[in-house]
Amino acid sequence: MSGLTIKDVTKAFGAHKAVNNVNLTVPHGQFVCLLGPSGCGKTTLLRMIAGLEEPTEGQIVLDGQDITGVPTHKRNLGMVFQSLALFPHLSVGDNIAYPLRIRGVAKSEQKARAEELLKLIHLPGFADRPVAKLSGGQRQRVAIARALALSPKLFLLDEPMSALDAKLRESMQVELRQLQQRLGVTTFVVTHDQREAMTMADLVVVMGEGRIRQAASPMEIYRKPADAFVADFIGVTNLLDASADSAGRVSVLGQVIPGLAMPAGMTKGSVSIRPEDVRLGKTGGDAITGTVTFVRDLGSNIETYLEVNGQTIIAVSTPRERLDVNAGDKVGITLPAENCVVVKGN
Ligand code: ATP
Repeated sequence: MSGLTIKDVTKAFGAHKAVNNVNLTVPHGQFVCLLGPSGCGKTTLLRMIAGLEEPTEGQIVLDGQDITGVPTHKRNLGMVFQSLALFPHLSVGDNIAYPLRIRGVAKSEQKARAEELLKLIHLPGFADRPVAKLSGGQRQRVAIARALALSPKLFLLDEPMSALDAKLRESMQVELRQLQQRLGVTTFVVTHDQREAMTMADLVVVMGEGRIRQAASPMEIYRKPADAFVADFIGVTNLLDASADSAGRVSVLGQVIPGLAMPAGMTKGSVSIRPEDVRLGKTGGDAITGTVTFVRDLGSNIETYLEVNGQTIIAVSTPRERLDVNAGDKVGITLPAENCVVVKGN
């Protein structure tokens, strides 16, 4: 298969398994985000793909070839780290051309490739500038261009946006994704920012304690989280204790959710429902009665915090759907079965 396969890979540091039996297949040209809380093993997994760390067990296969023991410089990789590691004494053009220079590529060819890459990163004409005079976002782009100079098979980035302010980070995410799509290079990005992962990835790999908790498209991760850990890590969700009656119908907050069934083999778990899927209206009928505790009007949307039997629920509505309610008011809450996901854990 063309692409990268990670087979039964474990990395132990002493008794601690930083990466624990990871299996993953990534087709050629995909953009993968390794996502998870601090210490979950994302960087260690990326470093093994890069050859900077040897797996304790398992194999890494690139385009059908086992590269597990192959040194980094023979893996045909482009890498960008948090520090960027640009050479401050070299110009922008020389930084980008550096990988070509150490491979003995002719000077004229180095120059042409640097110009081509500068166009690609929207900095044409910047070749002679000192890197010290660039802004944070421009340096970021130069580091990306340098990593791509040799047209690598794999493009690896470790928290590449973390030094940028929030606004610049968002625009760089879009730029990086567009660049990757144009080049079709298989890309892995380590991030702990779920928004970043949702913006860029074809495949989001959520890790927890060294294991893959779920690997799927951003939408599937958001809409069909595999467990409570994933649901809680990705975006904001309501995680409500759920139990099943003898007929397998699911109850939350003391009320049966019509049309929602407990997965086979489970008697209790949690229901995950996103705030934008919680409907608010009048009390009565099938609606669950809740008490409004706080209303936050953010202009583009309105967050309503509610309490039912000691559990908090957040509902998000658009200004058009706005209910005129205040703290202390009773409202009817509907949790549509099609928006509820029953997950293990709580
Ligand atoms: P962060 O987001 O904080 O960078 P991460 O998910 O990238 O976290 P890793 O850096 O892969 O996590 O670390 C996973 C675990 O392995 C951590 O508990 C870490 O302390 C441990 N670890 C990583 N590298 C080493 C090492 N060289 N020696 C010993 N332990 C290590």
